[in-house]
Amino acid sequence: QIAYVNGSFLPLADAKVSILDRGFLFADGIYEVAAVLDGKLIDNASHLARLERSVGEIALALPETTDRIQEIQKELVARNNLVNGMVYLEVTRGADSGRDFAFPKSGVKPTLIMFTSVKDIINAPSAKTGIAVITVPDIRWERRDIKSVALLAQVLAKQAAAEAGAGEAWMIEEGMVTEGGSSSAFILTQDDVLVTRQNSSAILPGCTRKAVVALAEERQLRVEERPFSVQEALAAKEAFTTSATVFVQAVVSIDGKTVANGKPGPMTNRLREIYVDFARATAV
Ligand code: PLP
Repeated sequence: QIAYVNGSFLPLADAKVSILDRGFLFADGIYEVAAVLDGKLIDNASHLARLERSVGEIALALPETTDRIQEIQKELVARNNLVNGMVYLEVTRGADSGRDFAFPKSGVKPTLIMFTSVKDIINAPSAKTGIAVITVPDIRWERRDIKSVALLAQVLAKQAAAEAGAGEAWMIEEGMVTEGGSSSAFILTQDDVLVTRQNSSAILPGCTRKAVVALAEERQLRVEERPFSVQEALAAKEAFTTSATVFVQAVVSIDGKTVANGKPGPMTNRLREIYVDFARATAV
């Protein structure tokens, strides 16, 4: 497997950064994950726009233009002969000469790394069965709109989910679901309204969430962007999560209680198909 580090394409085992890298020492970095279908990047303009926004929010200058970043992503996909999977990219504030919290003085170049992994998102077994989710308190910081590599809260949340045999953890704040550990949360109410929390600093503005909301609205489905509770989700017709690495993924139980009949719902399946069609049609 080939990875990318600061201008070089190298075997993964040789792809290294300094122990003084601020990504390693302070989680002072931003990441993005874009899916790959049939060798093409999915919804990548949206991911690169969010990357630019995230780095802007922490005053980190990208070491390459987003056009160049996309070229590197494509070259990495080609070098790995990647058909279906994802490209991970991370940019950090680089490796300074020590461990000063304040930004490095000029001359320290940001670190840019990328690697790929294989995943058949379309035919993933959980796409047919749906997943169980558990709920955990949302213990993250107050700028969740920034796609920062500081993911310890999500590591703990998703470990708790794994230990419970669940596929995702939904995080709860003031009685309401914020989002999943690595996904956006949706429900379909009994009167067929699609509900997902509005974008704010309380959640990451999901690229897949954005596309699904737009695709639903184009088809005259009713969408409400507002918080919902676990009780409302358990009383809903359907529930699902969205992310670059699962697309649209049914949620069939929450904390061991089934949502509706415990099977992926028809609207979830339909939105998944609609999203996959959009993904293929706009892939680059
Ligand atoms: N919310 C969080 C906290 C995430 O980490 C992710 C993706 O990793 C998402 C939502 C989904 O975002 P996207 O659809 O852009 O992958």
